[in-house]
Amino acid sequence: MSKQAFLIDIDGVLYVGDSPVPGAADAISDLKKKGYNIRFLSNTTRKSRKTIVARLTGMGFDIGPGEIFTPAVAAISFIKKAGISGVHLLTTGDVDKEFAEAGIYSCSDGVDAVIVGDAGDNFSYERMNGAFRFLLEGAGLIALEKDRYWMAGDGMMLSAGPFVSALEYATGKTAAIMGKPSKTFFELALDSMGVGASDTAMVGDDIMTDIGGSISCGIDGILVRTGKFRPETLQAAEVKPTAVIRSVAHLETIL
Ligand SMILES: [Mg+2]
Repeated sequence: MSKQAFLIDIDGVLYVGDSPVPGAADAISDLKKKGYNIRFLSNTTRKSRKTIVARLTGMGFDIGPGEIFTPAVAAISFIKKAGISGVHLLTTGDVDKEFAEAGIYSCSDGVDAVIVGDAGDNFSYERMNGAFRFLLEGAGLIALEKDRYWMAGDGMMLSAGPFVSALEYATGKTAAIMGKPSKTFFELALDSMGVGASDTAMVGDDIMTDIGGSISCGIDGILVRTGKFRPETLQAAEVKPTAVIRSVAHLETIL
């Protein structure tokens, strides 16, 4: 496999829970020393790149904020390319800091786009209805992700998807989706490195969002047997990975 660049999923590939995958930090350092372009991908819509980097650094990874690619980073790139200036943010955590650092602040006047992430407790009737009204007045709808739910420590939690669907249902509009497995996400990640799909491979633990998503964009998909990997899921999947490796620490063996 002859590649110039890698898209590497973070959760389940670099670490599982609170433990780094054995050998992963060294493998990443080696790839960087050899001059490969890398973007580390996360679908989180509650954390900024700085927060993600702090966690990775604590686990021994030498990765900088500029190498992290999230739905918020994709949205910023998307907004700039589309010439959108007025945005209204329906988000939570420190994701708004990511936009602020790019010079984008939430506004309620002259709204061209409503950006919806997993806003947690910031979702209220008032906030949703405000977003609904901006959309009726002509704003576009951008979803950082459209997942149905996620698992927290104390049980299942609604993700952004049900709220995005509610706004789509009420307005008849279709959201532009920024996160994996959307084509937009993979294409903007490639753009940020200035490389083409055929020169790049995606490394991930999710057969659908990582491998299916990348392959549909012409990017080779390498599945790791860590994180959420289950042999039966691989067997049942219609998507066939380009390669399957034990973990990201074994990436070297197929290069
Ligand atoms: Mg993953």
